Amino acid sequence: MSEYQQNGTSDSSQTWPNMAHFWMPFTANKQFKANPRLLVSAQGMYYTDIEGNKILDATAGLWCCNAGHGRQEISEAVSKQISQLDFAPSFQMGHPLAFELADKLCQLSPDGLEKVFFTNSGSESVDTALKMALCYHRANGQATRTRFIGRELGYHGVGFGGISVGGIGNNRKTFSQQLLQGVDHLPHTLDIANNAFSHGLPPHGLDKAEVLEQLITLHGAENIAAVIVEPMSGSAGVILPADGYLKRLREITHKHGILLIFDEVITGFGRLGAAFASERWQVTPDMITTAKAINNGAIPMGAVFVSNTIHDTCMHGPDELIEFFHGYTYSGHPVAAASALATLSIYENEQLFDRAKGLELYFEQAVHSLKGLPNVIDIRNTGLVAGIQLAPSDKGVGKRGYAIFDHCFRQGALVRATADIIALSPPLIVEKSQIDDMVNHISDAINAVG
Ligand code: PMP
Repeated sequence: MSEYQQNGTSDSSQTWPNMAHFWMPFTANKQFKANPRLLVSAQGMYYTDIEGNKILDATAGLWCCNAGHGRQEISEAVSKQISQLDFAPSFQMGHPLAFELADKLCQLSPDGLEKVFFTNSGSESVDTALKMALCYHRANGQATRTRFIGRELGYHGVGFGGISVGGIGNNRKTFSQQLLQGVDHLPHTLDIANNAFSHGLPPHGLDKAEVLEQLITLHGAENIAAVIVEPMSGSAGVILPADGYLKRLREITHKHGILLIFDEVITGFGRLGAAFASERWQVTPDMITTAKAINNGAIPMGAVFVSNTIHDTCMHGPDELIEFFHGYTYSGHPVAAASALATLSIYENEQLFDRAKGLELYFEQAVHSLKGLPNVIDIRNTGLVAGIQLAPSDKGVGKRGYAIFDHCFRQGALVRATADIIALSPPLIVEKSQIDDMVNHISDAINAVG
């Protein structure tokens, strides 16, 4: 039992909750409850914790709050919408906001991807996209195309589909007997030996895309439904593909009639200085999965952008009554839709995607100034994302990363640690002085932790 549970309160005016019952996700629960970090409010670039400390948000929450915190426009839209129409059934019924939102979203999406299917999370977006790929091939008279290809170290959420195509061992091994059948993985694109400390897309590793041809030769294109990758792997620690790699995947998938899905749950909505990574790197997939910053993280929401071809083919498929037997009670939820519309207006009015682009060079130079500090073995960046990779300590993998994360938090900055990689993804409203502050916090933490 932690000190807080025993006492029930702290010195601050906030009451500490009883922490016994909430089983926290992706968290070392015992460790957390012995040493909790509780946030109670947020404004702009800062959180406030339960003890009243101000914490600089260097991670946009969890890659979500691209417009910064406490946005009045979003809270007003949500409050108004709850009063006006709190919920509408989503099957065989509609409400105008979901259509309006889909319309607005498609003004941002690449040409040809002008249909939207709403979900409530990134995981649901991924599983929706995988099912849609099967639906498309079936409707297209190619029902043998059922295999999927993901990538090592890819993160695609936690549904059974997502962990099957995902390539993070810890997320799969407990469930390994129950994963989707017929899934292969491309090699990951991390290559510290050749690419350490590159800025932006690294020069080496284009050849890794050619493994796709080998998998196609092995299984037959007629059996493969889709390839799914994050354009930039976020959760595994900001891993970038070599220059030209995504284009090559597109060429190969096109050639063989295989769908290409970009999981842009992290890279979507301005993170890379463009609406999507697809736009930034000029590669248009057949589907894009999104969530998080679609509505600044305000309410659970996700969306899959789908090519007109996939959509139209499913419309004329063998199932006459309903084209795609799939959906969620909360697909296009009116309150979530209102929050997303308000968020998109902020992005547009404040030109936040361009702002991210304008700050990229400053951010890049700031994070690369950490090169040379003890145990820093690589630094990677693109747009307003960076990963600082540390050598594991002799206490075990992840111990150094966690210690740096915790030190930063106690000193007033929220960063993200994945094993021994520290990830930064600040809200796009960040000021240069705040970029300096976050880099200083990390530098102090690295020096303190050793
Ligand atoms: N895909 C990617 C690329 C992600 O980064 C995430 C979440 N970090 C997901 C899917 C899953 O999203 P969620 O946690 O909303 O289900």
